[in-house]
Amino acid sequence: MKRTIKELDVKGKKVLLRLDLNVPLNKQTGEISDDTRILESLSTINYLCENGAKLIICSHLGRPEGVDKKYSLKVVADRLAMILKNKVTFAEDTVGKDAKEKVKAMEEGEIVLLENLRFDEREEANDEKFCKELASLADLYVNDAFGTAHRKHASTYGVAKLLPNAVGFLMNKEIKVINQILEAPQKPFVAILGGAKIKDKIPVIENLIGKADTILVGGGMAYTFQKAMGGNVGTSLVDEEKITLAKELIEKAKKNNVEFVLPIDNLGAKEFSNDSKPKKFLAGQIADDYMGMDIGPKTIKLFKKYIKNAGTIVWNGPLGVFEFKKFAKGTNKIAKAIGKTKAFSFIGGGDSASAVIKSGYAKEVSHISTGGGASLSMLEGKVLPGVDIIEELGEGKEEKTCEKCADKKCCAKKAPAKTAKKAPAKKAAPKAKK
Ligand code: AMP
Repeated sequence: MKRTIKELDVKGKKVLLRLDLNVPLNKQTGEISDDTRILESLSTINYLCENGAKLIICSHLGRPEGVDKKYSLKVVADRLAMILKNKVTFAEDTVGKDAKEKVKAMEEGEIVLLENLRFDEREEANDEKFCKELASLADLYVNDAFGTAHRKHASTYGVAKLLPNAVGFLMNKEIKVINQILEAPQKPFVAILGGAKIKDKIPVIENLIGKADTILVGGGMAYTFQKAMGGNVGTSLVDEEKITLAKELIEKAKKNNVEFVLPIDNLGAKEFSNDSKPKKFLAGQIADDYMGMDIGPKTIKLFKKYIKNAGTIVWNGPLGVFEFKKFAKGTNKIAKAIGKTKAFSFIGGGDSASAVIKSGYAKEVSHISTGGGASLSMLEGKVLPGVDIIEELGEGKEEKTCEKCADKKCCAKKAPAKTAKKAPAKKAAPKAKK
């Protein structure tokens, strides 16, 4: 269990807070088109400010190559200033003169948002000097950017080595939820995996065999499995290099008593287009000149049966080419079914999340993850570098013996971070929704 901000004494301290403020921008106007990521960060921001921190927020925005004002975080600073009562100042650089001056002038409860970290190429390179420069701005470091926790960048990893640290509320919640699903899921545990990139989902399937009771596979990746079973998939998306592995996974699931369920029918099209006329096919019987674009009505019915009886559901990846209205039915129906179930439901990945939001059942879902890549990494069984580097609860730097006087208490008095208040609570199985 990682140390959280509740275990830090932040009063009067400069706290470097890494957030995921990578908000989508309107291409024409440059305005924020969805501020969910800002809103999700507010509980940590408010807690730190209310407890007297001088808050230095940093984030990336988009994928700029060097300084590119199109990706400036100024627009986020303006939005934060509108939402919060606290004074919000924008620094025109990250570790330069402007950032240093503005941080120096801060009072308790005030916020400085640094310019886009990725304007400096040293961020993604986890450059040692850049880490030191970032760390020199602050006394403490908090990571609440779950969306980038699978990256070993300066602001998500390197800087955490240099300062007493903790995770924020959002990060803590994400880790807890995924760990609970992996360690003590309410049964039956049903995983639904879709999307196109089979290479991203295979490690997840491998890790879930032995943990999940049922794995439902849809989307573009299902055709590699169907081909592996000797089916005819026409011109559907197939990863030829993964066919042998797909066959092995089906065998492995069988040996481990995991139900591995592939679509039993599909909607196909002659062209990859919304204008192409959909035609139904039984699984493995797709005509040579058709490609599978969505799961069919029989599969929807079958998947819904598993969803209805599940205790825990994890869903990542659309079940068809949902961007085309004619082939969005499978994804939308499954989103709705998940929303309606009493099971503990976890949605990872932007496409699945937006399908659930569109279905009108987002509020009924137990947890919509803010990090598609990071949650997939955890479901694969990987430890996220941005989480790994944070100290364990009760494992403070302040607990080390003081080098000068060889006294533990001496360090504790000066320590910026408090020791753990309580022993970590035993993990409970996720609760079903009321
Ligand atoms: P991923 O990033 O791997 O989750 O893939 C998401 C993408 O998978 C979406 O853009 C979907 O359009 C695409 N996808 C889903 N089903 C299919 C399919 N049957 N054929 C091709 N692409 C698909």
